[in-house]
Amino acid sequence: MTPLIDPFGRAISYLRLSVTDRCDFRCTYCMAEHMQFLPKRDLLTLEELDRLCTAFIGLGTRKLRITGGEPLVRKNIMTLFRALSRHLASGALEELTLTTNGSQLARFAAELANCGVRRVNVSLDTLDEAKFAEITRWGRLPQVLDGIAAARAAGLRVKINAVALKNFNENELFTLVEWCAAQGHDLTFIEVMPMGELGDALRLDQYWPLTDLRARLAERYSLAPLPERTGGPASYVRLRETGQKVGFITPLTHNFCESCNRVRVTCTGELFLCLGQEDMADLRAPLRGSTDDADLVAAIRAAIGRKPKGHDFDYSRAQVTGSLRRTMSHTGG
Ligand code: SAM
Ligand code: SF4
Repeated sequence: MTPLIDPFGRAISYLRLSVTDRCDFRCTYCMAEHMQFLPKRDLLTLEELDRLCTAFIGLGTRKLRITGGEPLVRKNIMTLFRALSRHLASGALEELTLTTNGSQLARFAAELANCGVRRVNVSLDTLDEAKFAEITRWGRLPQVLDGIAAARAAGLRVKINAVALKNFNENELFTLVEWCAAQGHDLTFIEVMPMGELGDALRLDQYWPLTDLRARLAERYSLAPLPERTGGPASYVRLRETGQKVGFITPLTHNFCESCNRVRVTCTGELFLCLGQEDMADLRAPLRGSTDDADLVAAIRAAIGRKPKGHDFDYSRAQVTGSLRRTMSHTGG
């Protein structure tokens, strides 16, 4: 099969699949406290999600990340992981992984490892219990720390993702770095993106540019830039003093759209071609319209043929442009 190549010559080999829009947290930068979630009947079944992933793998997807909402709150989600692990066993898929808030990891870490998952990304913006409760509204830090410990005990590598938030975790920069070094976790910082309906003024108030964060890090550590790129928006450095890897996801201060290799599918089968653009293609109709995958494959190819060049997020000139009403939890971060 001809692989998926977009109009800018980028090979699309990475799929992020959101398996639910629901979550057991309500992080203030991600969701409103009282969210209207999708009716369950609109969601693709686990069998349909499997079929969809299998079609993408047939088209050259080598890396699959399960996300949400909180992926581990989707009922019977391990059935999907178990099914997808056959593609790891056959060698068709290089990596099966997930992004999680960690709340359910203590329950599922061992089973994830058995399904061939080797790494998890866990979102953690603060190590202060009160601040954690404030930012997640519904989350409890000890539960997440137990989940991370369970992941490590199961042999999973953990990467901590922290959203850089002005007046919130600025004063924890070194605490987070030192904790990750001591625990052996990789760490990536993320610039807050204008998604959802928080309002422009609040978004600008939260924004802590990673150019600034990186300069502060360089006051205490020597940063050795690493050449590696994952086709994603992150760049990496190694801290010479601790040997640990630190990543920077900088959609605002420096976008890396030119090397983008990914697309996203929501739990209702919407294929989003870019996290920061509205254009999408419905894959649920072709999935449900026929047991044969020909229409589904044609819909995926047609959509990739119009993948946009990049997002338009911008906070310069002290105002927000390129913002989207869609939340990150809808598309899957
Ligand atoms: N619930 C899981 C979690 O929190 O890891 C997976 C989904 S969550 C939407 C994925 C990632 O998106 C998390 O690391 C979260 O911090 C990040 N995120 C959510 N809203 C964001 C925003 N407006 N800007 C930047 N990152 C955001
Ligand atoms: Fe839930 Fe993740 Fe959004 Fe927090 S960032 S509300 S954990 S989906």
